[in-house]
Amino acid sequence: MEINILFPRNKEEADYLIQIACAGKKSTRSEKSTTQILNETDWLMECKRKFIEEKWTLYEITNCRTMMANHVIKCSEFDRCCERNMLDVKTQKHFGVLEIPDMIVDIAGISRACSHQLVRHRLVTYLQQSQREVRISVDSDDWYVIPEIYLGTRFETRFRQDMKESAEKYMWYIEQGKQFEEEKRHKIEEDARFVLPNACKTNILVKTNLRQWLHIEYMRLDKHAQWEIRKVAEVILEKSKELYPLVFEDTGEFEV
Ligand SMILES: Cc1cc2nc3c(=O)[nH]c(=O)nc-3n(C[C@H](O)[C@H](O)[C@H](O)COP(=O)(O)OP(=O)(O)OC[C@H]3O[C@@H](n4cnc5c(N)ncnc54)[C@H](O)[C@@H]3O)c2cc1C
Repeated sequence: MEINILFPRNKEEADYLIQIACAGKKSTRSEKSTTQILNETDWLMECKRKFIEEKWTLYEITNCRTMMANHVIKCSEFDRCCERNMLDVKTQKHFGVLEIPDMIVDIAGISRACSHQLVRHRLVTYLQQSQREVRISVDSDDWYVIPEIYLGTRFETRFRQDMKESAEKYMWYIEQGKQFEEEKRHKIEEDARFVLPNACKTNILVKTNLRQWLHIEYMRLDKHAQWEIRKVAEVILEKSKELYPLVFEDTGEFEV
């Protein structure tokens, strides 16, 4: 399987989404709009707190404010400023804030058995490869996923044989369909997939917000989850932590 997060493209974009979410959160307790708050130099009001409580130097505070004012999200203290906001979100159960930033993930080469479980999460947008587009070949093994537990055992040998037979069955319909005119042939080819196994590889593009991603991680990292979807969840979590360390650091521990 290959998993890539396509959006946000980097930590800077992720930070900006978190900044919007934090400003949006602040706008719920303010007469100002999110845009007005974002445009303020000290919108997080953290510099003052840090100045008093954490004995920040005047240089640190000025530096932080100037960077914010210039919309450069490279402030070295940005994470720490957001940290309290993100902790508040979790302790106050203010989960709507986590619905503001999105994440688009491209998942390639998982089995249909796995994708079928994934698409049960309904508050998510998917674009999945049509099975009509999958190239099945009797002589190749690149169209199916072998269960990990079978690898290197007699089950693998048997499984490969079963897949070969599935491919032969599939190809029988494709070949037989060729004797008919185009419209009927097309329908016969289209339905040949009825004989294909759940092991067939698929690609799926998945978009949802951080709250849903946390929820999916919570459900699918569980030891009761099936190995392949758990692996998908583990890889996505690892990559998500690079973009949103504060949001995903205690993933799996609580339900959102
Ligand atoms: C280990 C494991 C084993 C599973 N085994 C099976 C199985 O054998 N058979 C099977 O059919 N499914 C099975 N599932 C799928 C499971 O039942 C859920 O459908 C799936 O995990 C999606 O859950 P979700 O909370 O993201 O639901 P979604 O449908 O995506 O909904 C998201 C959230 O919205 C809320 N919500 C949505 N709809 C309603 C509603 N109608 N009423 C109240 N609240 C709602 C809930 O808070 C829910 O968590 C399994 C899942 C796991 C993790």
